[in-house]
Amino acid sequence: MIIDPVCGLPLTEPKEEYKAEVRGKTYNFCGEYCKHVFLHGNRIAYFSMEIGLEKDFHTYSGGLGVLAGDVIKSSADLKIPLVGVTLVSTKGYLKQEIRDGKQIDHPDDWTPSQYISELPKQVELKIENRPVKVKAWIYDYQSPRGSLVSVLFLDTDVEGNTPEDREITSFLYGGDREYRLKQEIVLGIGGVKMLKAADFNIGKYHMNEGHSSLLTLELLRNNGKEVDAVRDLCIFTTHTPVAAGHDKFSYDLVQRLLGNVVPLETLKAHGGQDQLNMTRLALNTSKYVNGVAKRHQEFSLTLFPGYNISTVTNGVHSFTWTCDSFRRLYNQYLPGWANEPELMVRVECIPDEEIWLAHMEAKEQLMQFVRERSGEQFDPNVLTLGFARRATGYKRATLLFSNLKRLEDINKRVGKVQVIYAGKAHPDDWMGKRLIEEINEMKEYLKDVMKIIYLENYDMEMASKLTSGVDVWLNTPLPPFEASGTSGMKAAHNGVINFSVLDGWWVEGCIEGITGWAIGPDPEENLEEAERRHREITQLYDKLEYLIIPKFYRNRDDWIHMMKNSVGKVAYYFNSHRMMRRYTTEAYL
Ligand SMILES: *Cc1c(COP(=O)(O)O)cnc(C)c1O
Repeated sequence: MIIDPVCGLPLTEPKEEYKAEVRGKTYNFCGEYCKHVFLHGNRIAYFSMEIGLEKDFHTYSGGLGVLAGDVIKSSADLKIPLVGVTLVSTKGYLKQEIRDGKQIDHPDDWTPSQYISELPKQVELKIENRPVKVKAWIYDYQSPRGSLVSVLFLDTDVEGNTPEDREITSFLYGGDREYRLKQEIVLGIGGVKMLKAADFNIGKYHMNEGHSSLLTLELLRNNGKEVDAVRDLCIFTTHTPVAAGHDKFSYDLVQRLLGNVVPLETLKAHGGQDQLNMTRLALNTSKYVNGVAKRHQEFSLTLFPGYNISTVTNGVHSFTWTCDSFRRLYNQYLPGWANEPELMVRVECIPDEEIWLAHMEAKEQLMQFVRERSGEQFDPNVLTLGFARRATGYKRATLLFSNLKRLEDINKRVGKVQVIYAGKAHPDDWMGKRLIEEINEMKEYLKDVMKIIYLENYDMEMASKLTSGVDVWLNTPLPPFEASGTSGMKAAHNGVINFSVLDGWWVEGCIEGITGWAIGPDPEENLEEAERRHREITQLYDKLEYLIIPKFYRNRDDWIHMMKNSVGKVAYYFNSHRMMRRYTTEAYL
């Protein structure tokens, strides 16, 4: 079926005069107006180092990229005129093998030409004063009832480039500082040039994290160095709650690679005196700046005093992250939910038994998936906890094993628990790798008490299986490091209940005992770090022993009531449709 890419109208008889050839593709429209809007209308350019659209595009590493993919999908559903820009990352982020309980790293190649087409035009930029050619692949995401949003994947693997330059867009988050800066030059500066070459009219530039903030230098150059004019065009979303996490480069390196796109003095004035801080550059050149959860905004204000930082709390794309059995239920009882996730507030329309049946279907599918991947059989009648996200220190994947005696005792005396883990560690993150080893050691150590598995090669497909098929979604980050977190929102869409440290989005999502449970004290409470750790660990076990396990096994009605609250009080708000409407009214318009 042919769909008008602007208004979403199905076209039974496409008309020759409302056809357009652009960017090497043919598009059909319902009439002159949509055609004109598509060819000449202003768009929001959404820049992100990673965008996770589907599992076969290996252009994401974790939450940041998956969020960017959900931005694209919700924008298309809501007919927000947006175009995405990212790197093609043909060698991917990382293919994870787990051998003898340890992570082994492999490249994770993908072949863009299998899925997407090449743009006819290339652009050129300068790195170390040598010309580097950039091409782009275009992917069109057509929403079933909404509009079309294109994503450009920039690629320097072009004939005529030096062998080294041909690799710039190969490895997501790979290489050294120099490699990273080259990637950010291609993303920021190459991205702006490519949008122009591809005839996109851009009204706003949205930087998803600071990696792309060199785009503002290209805009300064195009706007006669008027920073106010650039500021008017730019929106910046920061995702990093700690100073050390922000991308920085020495000016020696910057000058060597970048030359003088803008005079060094101008660059220092906006990007910091001592070194180029990509976050600071973005802060100084954007009119609208936001954090990704209220708590993260508050923290960002302390990191960057004097800036006006707003907040738009993250969300996830409801349709993408709802499993088949729950989609069927929502279609039946809450028609229209996928494009109006607010309707999930009416979850009480759905009979309890049907919620439970849909959940058990998802749970059995997960158990089957685990069996296929690992050969291990999990029991669908046992309370199952899920923990899956990037394996890195602050996520504290092993917090559950802080007190083994207590964990064993709870399992033997109170009720059985089993845990499914997954997540990749960055190749250079030895702490993250160590956490994976420890979990595998625990699996061995506790094998007669509780069943544990660490699934290999976490990706979006596995994320959707896990966040729909477990009973409880566990999250134990070290505050304030979790800027938002989104996997718990995916869980909520499937009636899975969150049990999490009060950090990031969960500060806004948690109503104790109603929408889920908190682990540890309120972030507002003024406590010593040691006392905080102690309370986190005590509450983790206390709530498992006294609240969660008894409710699951002996009070199923109350459990289902909480599942419904997860849908009706969490998913109905923490979705990317609400998020994109907020960006539209607060930042884009
Ligand atoms: C949603 C998602 C994440 C984000 O998980 P958090 O728990 O929010 O960090 C990471 N990786 C993949 C593959 C995801 O789908």
